[in-house]
Amino acid sequence: MERDRKILIDEETIMKRVAEMGAKITADYEGKDLLIVCILKGGVIFMSDLVKHIHLPLAMDFMAVSSYGASTRSSGVVRILKDLDEDMEGKDVLIVEDIVDTGLTLHYLIDYLKSRKPGSVKACCFLDKPTRRKVEVEVDYIGFEIPDKFVVGYGLDYNQKYRNLPGVWVLDENDN
Ligand code: 5GP
Repeated sequence: MERDRKILIDEETIMKRVAEMGAKITADYEGKDLLIVCILKGGVIFMSDLVKHIHLPLAMDFMAVSSYGASTRSSGVVRILKDLDEDMEGKDVLIVEDIVDTGLTLHYLIDYLKSRKPGSVKACCFLDKPTRRKVEVEVDYIGFEIPDKFVVGYGLDYNQKYRNLPGVWVLDENDN
C-alpha cells in the first residue's frame, strides 16, 4: 500500500482522536455498568485502542455480523454470524463499529440489542460516510467523517486483507 499516495488518515491522527473519544466516553459513562460490544472483525483494532483510554471498569463482548461479500458495496443484508456470550440485561451497552455507511448494519444492531433489555444502547463508530446513508441512525460517537470512498486499514479489510495497516487508506482497485 505504501507505493501509492492515497492515505486518508495517518496513524498519529488516529491515535490522538481515539484518545479524545476514550476521554469523552469515560466522562459520559462514569458510574454506569458499561458493556462494550465490539463488532467483529472490523471493529477489533479500534476497540483495542479505545478501551485503553476508557478509565472505568467495563466488560467486553463480541458479535460478528455480515453485510458484505467480496463486493465493495452493501448488499443491505445483515446476518448474525456470532451472537453475544454475556447477558446484557440492565447494562449500558456501547456498540463499537468500524464504519457506518448505509446505516443498515448499525440500525439492525441497535434494534436487536435493545430487544435484549439493556439499560441503554449507544453507538461508537471509528468512521462515518454520511453521504451514503439509506436509513437514519443515531451515532453517538464518531471518530472521523470520510467521503464516499472504499477504505481499508485500522481494522477495515478488502477480502480479509489490509486490516493491520495502522492508518486508513483509499483502496486502489488494482492493489488486491
Ligand atoms: P452499512 O450497513 O452501514 O452499509 O455498512 C457497515 C459495514 O460495511 C461496515 O461495518 C463495514 O464492514 C462495511 N463497509 C462499509 N464501508 C466500507 C469501506 O469503505 N471499507 C470497508 N473495508 N468496509 C466497509
